[in-house]
Amino acid sequence: MNVTAHPLIFFHRALQQTPVFSTQLLKTEKDGIHPGAGSIGGDRLETIITIKDLRKVYNLGSEKVVALDNINLEIQKGQVCCILGTSGSGKSTLLNQLAGLEKPTRGAVYIGKNNISKFGEDRLAAFRQRNIGFIFQSYNLMTSHTALENVAMPLMFRGVGKAKREKVAAQMLRQVGLEKRMHHRPNQMSGGQQQRVGIARAFVSNPKIIFADEPTGNLDTKTTIEVMAMMVRMCRQNNQTLILVTHDSYLAQYADRIVTLIDGKIVSDVENKSIVDRMSNEEIVEYFLSENANLAETTVLESDGEIEAIRQELQEGRQAEEQPMTETADDPAETAELQEQTCTAHTAEENLEGTRE
Ligand code: ADP
Ligand code: MG
Repeated sequence: MNVTAHPLIFFHRALQQTPVFSTQLLKTEKDGIHPGAGSIGGDRLETIITIKDLRKVYNLGSEKVVALDNINLEIQKGQVCCILGTSGSGKSTLLNQLAGLEKPTRGAVYIGKNNISKFGEDRLAAFRQRNIGFIFQSYNLMTSHTALENVAMPLMFRGVGKAKREKVAAQMLRQVGLEKRMHHRPNQMSGGQQQRVGIARAFVSNPKIIFADEPTGNLDTKTTIEVMAMMVRMCRQNNQTLILVTHDSYLAQYADRIVTLIDGKIVSDVENKSIVDRMSNEEIVEYFLSENANLAETTVLESDGEIEAIRQELQEGRQAEEQPMTETADDPAETAELQEQTCTAHTAEENLEGTRE
C-alpha cells in the first residue's frame, strides 16, 4: 500500500517490530498440514482448499529455482487468508498452483474433494469458471469493452443469456458503487474504478473462492483501503473464501489468517482479527496513517537479519536433502504420474455449489 512514496519503509518498520518465531514454526510445518486458523470459538470449519506436499521447481538453464518447497496447508471455507512474503518468496507461484494455472512438480492441490492437479486443461477451465474468481494487480480488463460488458463476460462463458447477464452485471456494478460508470471503458476510469470493475467481475458468478494477487499494488492509500474493505466485506456476505497475496504487512491486517512465505517455505501461520471486523473504513484510514499503526500483532516476518538466518537454514536443509540425487521439474516419473491421473469422470462435487443464475 502506498502509505508514502516509500511503502517499503513501512514494511521494514514492520519487520523490525515483529515478535520472535522461526525454527519452532519451521518444525511444526514439517510435521504435516498446517491447520492454521481452523477453528473459531471451538467450531471446526469446513476445509475448502488442501495443499499437500506441494513443490514447484523451475529450471533456469542449468540452475533450478525451488519456488515452492513442500507446502502443506488447509484453508477453511469463508476464510480470508493472506499469503504474505517479500518479492520472489513464491506467492504468485502458490496462487497459480491453487488456481490450477500451473502443474506442481510434486504434490497436490485439492479444492473441495477434487484433486485439481490431476485435471486436464479443459476440465480445469470449466472448474475455474464454476468455482473461482480472480482479481489482478493490473486489473486485466478488456480495454475495448465497457464496464458492464467486462463484468458480464464470466456469465457469457457460462452460457447465461445476454439480457440476464447484463442485469446481473449491472447489479454487481451497483454493489461496487459504479452505477454511473456502466458504459465507460477502462481508459475512461481511474485505477480504483477499474479495480472495482475487476472485483465485480470476480464476484459476478458467485464463485466459492476468490484469488487476489497484489490487488491494490497500483492504487493509492485511500483507494486501497476502500478496495480491500469492499473485497473482504463481499466475501463475508456469501461466506466466500478469499486468498489474498501481498508483500504488504498492512494489507495482511484485513485477513483472518496470515501465512508467511520465505523462499518458497511456510515460516509462519497465524490467526488474525480482520481489521474490517473491528473498524469502519474511516477508522481504518486514520489507523493506517497514525503513528500507532502497529503491525507487530499481525506479521511474523522479522528483521532482515532474521529473514537471512531462516534463508540460510532452509538452504542448508535443501543442500543436505539433495545430495547426491538431483531433481528437475521435468522428472519423467513425476510427469508420467500426473498424466496417468488426468481426467477421470466428472462428478457433481466439481461444482462446489450454487451459482448466481
Ligand atoms: P512472488 O510472487 O512472491 O514475488 P514468484 O512466485 O513470482 O514470487 O517467484 C518465486 C520464485 O520463482 C522466484 O525466484 C522467481 O524468480 C521464480 N520463478 C517464478 N516463475 C518462474 C518461471 N516461470 N520460470 C523460472 N523461475 C520462475
Ligand atoms: Mg508475485
